[in-house]
Amino acid sequence: MKIRKVAIVGLFLESNRYAAVVERNRFRVLRGDAIVEDARSSSPKLLKEGQGFFAQMDIEGDWEAIPIALVLGGAGGPAEHDFIIHEIEKIGRELKAQTPLDGVYILNHGAMTTPEEEDPDGLLYETVRLAVGAGVPVVSTVDLHANISQRMVDSADVIISYLTDPHADQYDRGKEAAAILHEMFNGMCPTVSNIRIPIVPPNVSLLTANGPYGDLIDYGQSQLGAEILNVSIVAGFAYSDTSVNGLHVLVAARENELAAATLCKRIAEMAWSMRERFLWGLVPLENAVAKAVEVGHDDKSPPVLLADLGDNVGAGGPGNTLWLTKALHQAKATGVVIGSFFDPELVIAATSAGVGSSIQAKFNGDGWEGTESTYVVDNVLVQYLHPGEFYISTGPLSGMRVNAGPMCLLRFEGIQILVTSRRPIVWPDPELLETMGINVASIRTLVLKCRSNYRAVYNKYFDPEMMIEVDTPGRTSPVLSRHDWKRIPRPSYPLDLDFDWQP
Ligand SMILES: [Zn+2]
Repeated sequence: MKIRKVAIVGLFLESNRYAAVVERNRFRVLRGDAIVEDARSSSPKLLKEGQGFFAQMDIEGDWEAIPIALVLGGAGGPAEHDFIIHEIEKIGRELKAQTPLDGVYILNHGAMTTPEEEDPDGLLYETVRLAVGAGVPVVSTVDLHANISQRMVDSADVIISYLTDPHADQYDRGKEAAAILHEMFNGMCPTVSNIRIPIVPPNVSLLTANGPYGDLIDYGQSQLGAEILNVSIVAGFAYSDTSVNGLHVLVAARENELAAATLCKRIAEMAWSMRERFLWGLVPLENAVAKAVEVGHDDKSPPVLLADLGDNVGAGGPGNTLWLTKALHQAKATGVVIGSFFDPELVIAATSAGVGSSIQAKFNGDGWEGTESTYVVDNVLVQYLHPGEFYISTGPLSGMRVNAGPMCLLRFEGIQILVTSRRPIVWPDPELLETMGINVASIRTLVLKCRSNYRAVYNKYFDPEMMIEVDTPGRTSPVLSRHDWKRIPRPSYPLDLDFDWQP
């Protein structure tokens, strides 16, 4: 049997236009053999879809991985323009040097921007296609918060999006990419239909366990079969603010163009008819704080988890707004753990004071919209110092290594706060908290700067009804009408409520 040469390339950043530019030193770039080693490692730094892809390719038959580059940035603001353009051009040159190739796998978030280019993902796809030529299978996986451009659709054969939010199926989507690639090696020619629906849903409305988005995805999956190869319903990332933002339906059929087009239109009509279900209510800050005070006084009541939505690190939040911390402190809430707060200066101050000492802590927060950006608290106990590297112990990312830089756990009155120094973290692993002496099961209120990805990890400690989505101000507030958008096409629901549309 022929040994297939398949190149691996990746670009990963979710860009929030309100967050600071992500400079080159914040990207992690893996090249060559480091990609292969990591994809087959038991504690990878790489994305889970890469692991799934390698595992399935190994099952499908003899192949040679041609690892080019993975440029991984997580979530933040727009990427440093020159750096990304340089990386994309380099990927193009290296792919070209490896031709002829049998296929390419692109692992991609799909919501990157730079200050000068609103669609670097599309540029990557186009570069890949130009390098390898027409007729070479190109398959990609994207986050379901990707903004899909026509350039991406035209350059790839099949774009496969995650199906779950919180994201739990990256590994399976990587496997699916490998399986589709092999079908194409055996002669299958996919045909894709795609429609952009003018709905820019707030991210809080996108959980897939239930709700409108879950219903749409479930319907799409029920249509898979001999004719329909893949249905990807990609909600997009509103905060990127691009001219392609919107809910995007992609249907790939095996050969049958009409089947793809018919199903794509049907799903688009369905989505539009349920648009009102994407409107979403949040809990006002005062009510969330009152709830925290209440459960602090009553050990018998179930604990609460407050999701600080205005500073959602997973959507580019800086991880250091202070509204919720200040309000909880001033209301004298007890049994509170804030995990986490990003503040390199504060970690240095706590480290030089040492464990057991009492300091005056200056919290350096985000000065969003000209608000007060620091908060000074006296008599803060330095409870624990941690070097910063830890492994995720549970949930879909279990085994992954995280390095948030030196960290400290501080305590003042009823509040414990985990402070990181190298980067903000989306949620602290429960085992990490236990290491620092926090009994997770006895926390009364846990504050996370995260929208939903904590759920798979913290659902054994908190009832779903006690996971409260708090309406805090900030760069990642899901109340989209509060932001000043420049590029999102208008009208788009729910920014505009009164208009009609047909696919
Ligand atoms: Zn996502």
